[in-house]
Amino acid sequence: MRPTRLYCCLYAMLLFTSTLNAQPYPRFKVLAFYSTTVEKAHVDFANDAIQFFKELTVGNGFVFDTTSNMADLNDEKIKDYQLLIWINDFPHNDTQRIAFQKYMDNGGGWLGFHVAGYNDKTTNWPWFVNFLGGAVFYNNNWPPLPAKLTVDDTSHPVTKGIPATFISPVGEWYQWKPGPRENKKVKVLVSLSPENFPMGIKDIIANGDMPVVWTNTDYRMIYLNMGHGPHILSDATQNKLIINAFRWVITSDKRGNVIDK
Ligand code: ZN
Repeated sequence: MRPTRLYCCLYAMLLFTSTLNAQPYPRFKVLAFYSTTVEKAHVDFANDAIQFFKELTVGNGFVFDTTSNMADLNDEKIKDYQLLIWINDFPHNDTQRIAFQKYMDNGGGWLGFHVAGYNDKTTNWPWFVNFLGGAVFYNNNWPPLPAKLTVDDTSHPVTKGIPATFISPVGEWYQWKPGPRENKKVKVLVSLSPENFPMGIKDIIANGDMPVVWTNTDYRMIYLNMGHGPHILSDATQNKLIINAFRWVITSDKRGNVIDK
């Protein structure tokens, strides 16, 4: 074999091997919903969160799209996205609610922050309460404060590398009644340490269970109660937890792990 032919041959083999190993980029698509017309602390978080997730796409690993138009929560628009994030907003009408239900019931992924999980007796969306693990908003502390958080489940991928306790930056914390821990389908991953009580000055949470991060095991979802104000993404430990949650929702897709394939 002449050297040129040998090189050609080697080159072809190399090309073939690299095609076999090639990762399809971008690997997946994320659509984040946010609002600019809600309370300022929630808009501040949205601005920071959009920047935070955009920076994770470096290298074109995934597509990160954002929209402040909740009407984009429709079958046609969301069908190609592996993950929907609700940064500081939730559906505004039944059409949007039904599109989301269908998306999640068919294996869609969801990451929800803070007010995205808010619901009370006026919400009238039983499907969502069930989806959230039965959690209904009960009360909150005021003013926003930092809090000591405790990892409940150290074996879950979302809490991997997170210390047993850590201080979460200034935020507004929700207490839920019923709480999600009462639901057998829920895995509480992180909760607020009782050492924080009494929590607040104007509005005080005196005691009780306060799950902060959890998943309803019937769905590919993580809810995180953080998301109030401009300090949420200022802590390396908490940022790691958020990235873990993002990564876990993406990689637990039953239709195939988009990162490994
Ligand atoms: Zn808030």
